[in-house]
Formats: sequence, structure tokens, C-alpha cells
Amino acid sequence: MRWEPISKPTELRAWSNMPDYEQVRRAFDWTAARSQLSGLPGGRGLNIAYEAVDRHALGGRADVAALRCVDKQDRVTEISYGELRDRTNRFANVLRDLGVGKGERVYTLLGRVPELYVAALGTLKAGCVLAPLFSAFGPQPVYDRLQIGEGAALLTTPRLYRNKIRQLRADLPQLRHVLLVGDGAAEPGTIGFANALAQAGTEFEIPPTSPEDWALLHFTSGTTGRPKGAVHVHGAVVAHHTTAAYALDLRPDDVFWCTADPGWVTGTSYGIIAPLTHGATVVSDEGEFDARRWYRVLAEQRVTVWYTAPTALRMLMRHGPELASRYDLSALRYVASVGEPLNPEVVVWGQEVLGLPVHDNWWQTETGAIMISNYPAEEVRPGSMGRPVPGVEVGLLERGEDGRARVAHGKVHELTGADVEGELALRPGWPSMFRGYLHDEARYAASFADGWYLTGDIAARDSDGYYWFVGRADDVIKSAGHLVGPFEVESVLMEHPAVAEAGVIGKPDPVAGELVKAFVSLRPGHAPNDELRTELLAFGRRRLGAVAPKELDFDADLPHTRSGKVMRRLLKSRELGLPEGDLSTLEKAR
Ligand code: ATP
Ligand code: MG
Repeated sequence: MRWEPISKPTELRAWSNMPDYEQVRRAFDWTAARSQLSGLPGGRGLNIAYEAVDRHALGGRADVAALRCVDKQDRVTEISYGELRDRTNRFANVLRDLGVGKGERVYTLLGRVPELYVAALGTLKAGCVLAPLFSAFGPQPVYDRLQIGEGAALLTTPRLYRNKIRQLRADLPQLRHVLLVGDGAAEPGTIGFANALAQAGTEFEIPPTSPEDWALLHFTSGTTGRPKGAVHVHGAVVAHHTTAAYALDLRPDDVFWCTADPGWVTGTSYGIIAPLTHGATVVSDEGEFDARRWYRVLAEQRVTVWYTAPTALRMLMRHGPELASRYDLSALRYVASVGEPLNPEVVVWGQEVLGLPVHDNWWQTETGAIMISNYPAEEVRPGSMGRPVPGVEVGLLERGEDGRARVAHGKVHELTGADVEGELALRPGWPSMFRGYLHDEARYAASFADGWYLTGDIAARDSDGYYWFVGRADDVIKSAGHLVGPFEVESVLMEHPAVAEAGVIGKPDPVAGELVKAFVSLRPGHAPNDELRTELLAFGRRRLGAVAPKELDFDADLPHTRSGKVMRRLLKSRELGLPEGDLSTLEKAR
């Protein structure tokens, strides 16, 4: 293996939430994990918002800061656990008074403003299902998602309402209430959020909530096609809480920043719920990615634990170590990443520039919480996603012709031992497992075989049980008899000093079946020209041999999903002149 593991100091073990991985894993069970939470008073069930807010507000931590929201002008709004309890109670009362009932969907289409957090948690208190949308979606994706989930209420701003909802509202008969946040001309048929909140009472008794009651409706990133609406239940909070302790090392005194927007599952599971269940302080930033701004937020907010994504880290890396050195990042003690393969280069950059390795972890909208992770006190293997979360069983299944797990007469073949590669599969049974794709039962049923949930990702396992991402089943390239994972090729290209980011696809080829084609964006100071192209192809050949890219194009704006993933399917359809497919989650060029 080329990249040396990064070992951890032994003091960390004594101090860690998980002093010994194997031991915790053997002893772990989800019932005991649930007992870390309090449940609703009087044994009335388990409600996410109670665990996130009321438990701390009523448990002597009412004055601790729950939220610190930084706005675009760098002003900070701080909300304590006590205030958050009041406001979420008020919002739950607003919903009740409007007659929005248990299980009905409440959508948010808002930037990362304090009202978003109040609405999200108030919705959960009221027993309604929260469906957060990313505020930069255009009118059509908003409409489609509102329709799929039959949204009964929507919170948005006057501007977003005028631009994205008003003209479509007549076609959304189920949408009974629209609440507007912030200033702006009153719009007919809408309710002012601030006013409604001010008039509502601060006392609210959370109705009995079963752990199986629906809580969240989350749309996937749409990397492979049309986004799916995954349903999660209140019981998921047990997994949010547990994984935040083990994989993110969270404690009550942490200042935690998750850079994902709550419109994506990461921004809700870990941007709202998990850190609050630990009683930590959550930082949110309304601004968009900007290297200087992000370093500033880390420094000024004294962030201790940071959860972000590979593209953002790659961009920070592109700006060089000197920029990082201008900020005081001394409060930072833990950095984790999710959403896309994390190139080993980036893990090592973290160690060198931030003084901390980046801990990669893996999960999906469907899994609701982290499933595989490099743990705080355990050695980090650059390029590996890590090992399974305690309480989660992971398997690799033999693949068939179509690249997915081979199912014969209802049976799959699990690959045992080390150094095997197959479709990554999970044994259902952890609490944040999705309970369905809304209105798409066939697709849900097709995600399971022989007692496994099939993830659609391909991974390998080493002799110590660390998992290594190879690619999505639909991205893996078959070239001249070799199976090529795009991630490996991209990571090697990124080791060249000129390359900032790479996206690799398979291009049909009459001889090889597919040939490997790379698209790369460059670091500042490097010009795209034929000489550099030749050099990069030669660099790839030296390092990768037969699976090296045969073609390479420069692309200053590699297409990304709004949740930060390189959209390889779009690179491919553009290359082949095919229809571009569903682009509702495409990030505009930055
Ligand atoms: P869609 O399902 O709509 O195509 P998506 O799969 O990108 O979109 P998400 O649920 O947001 O939607 O993303 C989960 C996927 O992201 C995983 O299945 C995997 O492909 C990728 N992913 C997440 N974390 C990692 C990681 N640490 N390393 C590699 N890939 C990751
Ligand atoms: Mg997916």
C-alpha cells in the first residue's frame, strides 16, 4: 500500500468515546444505545426533537448555546437550548392550529437561517414529517418534490415564493399553507412566520411518538438519475446519536460545524439532529463555499469538530497551505468527510496543513446515518472509508454481468476473507434504515436481496476489515478485461501538482469495450495545453499501467451535484452526445 496509515496518540484512546473498536463492536447492541436517550416523559415514545432540544433545556442546560447561525454579512445569531425549546414549541403550536396533522409533510425551502432550524425541530415535535429542500433548487425540482411528498405546508421566503412557487401553486392543491420567513411584501394566500410564531403559545406537549412514526422525507442527491424520496422514522435518532459519538467524537462541550445544507441528509442528520442530541453547540453558515470565508468561520467560531465534504477540502487544498496558516485553527480537534470518495492526498494534506488527518466515512441518504468510518482513536488509512459502525453488519457480494450483486434463485453469494471486491451490502436492522422510497415500492423492494440491503456501491476489504471505495456500480469501467474504479484513477491524477480535481468515465470503444477517459480541472498557475495533457497521460501510465486514462480533457468547471459530488454520468452523456437526463440537482458552475 502506497499511503502509510496515520496512527493516533495513545492518550486519545483513554479519552475516546470508543477506547477499543473491536471490544465496543462486540459488546454493542441497539437497545442499550437507545437507553442513552431519555424518551418522551411518561413512556410516551421516542421523538427526535425532544432528544435534541427539550432533554437539554429541561436538564439544566437551558442557557447553553444550541445554535450559532452566521449570516451572509457575518452577523451571528445565537440561540440557547432554552430559547430553542420555546420557539420550537411555538412552531409546533402553529402547525397544530393550522390543522396540519400527524404524518403530514412540512417542507422547508430556506437558506441556512435560524428559522430553518426552529421549523425543522418544531415540525418533528408536532408529529409532522419534515421534508427539507435545498433553497437553490429551481421551480421544477421544487414542484416535483412537493408533489411526490404531497406537501401540506411550506416554509420559504417571499423572494423564493415569488420566483419558485407562486406560479405553480394552483397545481399543488394539497399545499394548504405557505409561511413566509423574513421581510418582504405580503403575498396573498400566505402567512407571516414571525407573526404566527409570536402569537403562538410557548407550551406544547409532544404527542405520543412511536419510534416507527415517520419523521423525515429526504431526497437523494440525484447523482445517478432522478432523486428518490427516502422516508426515515423517529427511531433513527438512536443511530444519529450513537454514530456522532463514535465516528465524529462528539461531546457536550463541542462546537460543531457540518457544512452540508439541511436540504441533504447530511445537513439534517448531522447538521441539526445528532450534535443537538449530544447537547453541543451547532454552527451554521448562511454563506456559500469560499476558502477564506470557511477558514474564517472555523477560526472565529472556535469550531472543535468539523464535518465537511471532499470537494470543499480539495478546494481548500487548491488554495495552498499559506492561506490556512493565516487563520487560528487551534480549537479544531477533529475533521471528518463524507459524500464522495476522499482521495488519500487530501487525508495527508489535512495532517500536514491542519495538523489533523481527515476521517473519511461512508453512508447514504437511505442509511440515514454513518455506516463505515475511520474512528477518532483508531489508525486512519488514507483512501479507505474505514470500518463498520458498531451495530452495523457490512458484507461484500459477488457481482454478476451487470455489475450489481448476482442474485440466483433469490440467493446472493457473500465474499468472505480479505482482499475481495464486491457490491457493498448491509444487513437491515439499524434504527436509521430508510423505511421506503415514497410512492416507489418497486424500487424499494429491488434494493433488497436475500436479507441484504444492496447499496449500489462497489468496495473492497483489506485483511484488517477496512473498506475501500471502488466506485458506484454504474460508474465502474470495463476496459480490455480490467474492471476500473474511477476513484482510483482520479486519486492518482490528483497526486500530480497541476491537478485540482478529476472526473473519470468509461467511453465506449470498439476494441477495449470501454476506454478510460479523464476530465481534470487545474490548480492556479497551470495552463491547459497539449504539453500538460501529454505529461498527465504519461504520469497516469507510469502509476496505473493498463488502467490509466487513454484520453484526457481539461474542464475548468467539472459538473457537481449540489451536495458536492462529481457528476460522472453528466460527463459521460456530454462526451457521448446523449440526453443529459435529470439535472435538477446540478450545481451551477462556480
Ligand atoms: P442518487 O442515489 O440519487 O444517485 P447519491 O447516491 O449521490 O444520489 P446520496 O445518498 O447523497 O445520493 O449519496 C450516497 C452516495 O455517495 C453513496 O452511495 C456513495 O456512492 C457516495 N459516498 C458517500 N460517502 C462516500 C465515501 N466516503 N466514499 C465514497 N463514496 C461515498
Ligand atoms: Mg444513491
